[in-house]
Amino acid sequence: MNKETKINPTQNLLEFIDRSPTPFHAVQEMEDYLSGKGFKKLNETDFWDLIPNNKYFLTRNGSSLVAFEVGSNPGEGFKIIGAHTDSPNLRLKPNAGYTNSGYLQFGVEVYGGVLLSTWTDRDLSLAGRVILGGKKKPISKLIRFTQPLLRIPQLAIHLNRDVNKKGLILNAQIHLPPIFSLEKKSSPDEILKKMIAHELKCRPAEITGLELSLYDTQPGTIAGPEGEFIFSGRLDNLASCHSAMHALAESTRKDSATKVIAFYDHEEVGSETAQGAGSPFLKDVLERIVSHEDRETFFRAMAKSFFISADMAHAVHPNYSEMHDAQHMPILNAGPVIKSNASQRYATEGLSSAWFEGLCKKAGVPVQKFVVRSDLGCGSTIGPITAANLGIRTVDVGNPMLSMHSIREMSGSKDHESLIRVFKEFFRPAAGGK
Ligand SMILES: [Zn+2]
Repeated sequence: MNKETKINPTQNLLEFIDRSPTPFHAVQEMEDYLSGKGFKKLNETDFWDLIPNNKYFLTRNGSSLVAFEVGSNPGEGFKIIGAHTDSPNLRLKPNAGYTNSGYLQFGVEVYGGVLLSTWTDRDLSLAGRVILGGKKKPISKLIRFTQPLLRIPQLAIHLNRDVNKKGLILNAQIHLPPIFSLEKKSSPDEILKKMIAHELKCRPAEITGLELSLYDTQPGTIAGPEGEFIFSGRLDNLASCHSAMHALAESTRKDSATKVIAFYDHEEVGSETAQGAGSPFLKDVLERIVSHEDRETFFRAMAKSFFISADMAHAVHPNYSEMHDAQHMPILNAGPVIKSNASQRYATEGLSSAWFEGLCKKAGVPVQKFVVRSDLGCGSTIGPITAANLGIRTVDVGNPMLSMHSIREMSGSKDHESLIRVFKEFFRPAAGGK
């Protein structure tokens, strides 16, 4: 990320997303950005000697990240913004390659709630993590092929006459394996390993494991007659990560409270992993920030803290407006959405909602509210999970979008700048906390 968000945060977001086809790449991008902004990298295995008003970050599994600026009085509590780094996609199986009807193909698994039909007829490629058998222990390297390598072609309408009436029904095992090439002497796995070895400048025999995902090679774009829209993959939820990270890095005024961003992997598959929102990752970090004080100080700091869970929200779709409650129809470019749910699928409650609304007002940004139709199930996010884990006051918010979990989503270009403004307001001294 070379350009400042001050120049054009929305364009900057699209470049960030294009360079982040997987959580591993997103975390690497954020590490590079934060390092450039004076954040020092910590290791969980090292002794931490943290200095007030200094800035730090650490990662878990290379796919989750926590960054913070230590408050001048850490006992004053934490202002935290959380989001997730992962997006639904298709992932290569361990023994992925096979030959079928004259083609070379790869078996894929479905990661998260993928809108499957959107992955057909796209110019797909591969990205992720390659495990190399190092001298002492395995090491991992990131890889991103930029050229289109794969395609999941739809069946021609002549062979699927009912498709427009009945919809495209895809069996994940049978209909999703992409075409890689035409049958030849080498197996698809051998060809892929050779290509990876060429990219990473290693020998194919050194490759001991692959964690590769498919992604759409078409870059994100600003669209609409006045540039009012964004069309891109992974807006859910890299847009929230991007806005929180920039707000933290650009909030340079010293604060007595500690400012924190926490971005988790595995939200799309339930968060119950070592680096997911269900893990003790964030709680461990918060405790270590005040660990030089007594435990009483830590508990008091937690009681003074506030957590903003940032994840995208459902804007009303003009062709399906009946899918929203008539009183709760968020629209694009009308500001962030406060999400609530009586069954606590969102962690928002009366006070946290009112507090966030006040924050938007101070930032000069309009705010919207969302609750799902009473006869529909409600989605969820990291908000309730972290709230249960940390026991601190939480609000679930996010920018409105369409096509959530499609390979190419849609949101409002104005909303992104608005959310950065609200997050900066949160990180202003004396703005957060209870
Ligand atoms: Zn999400």
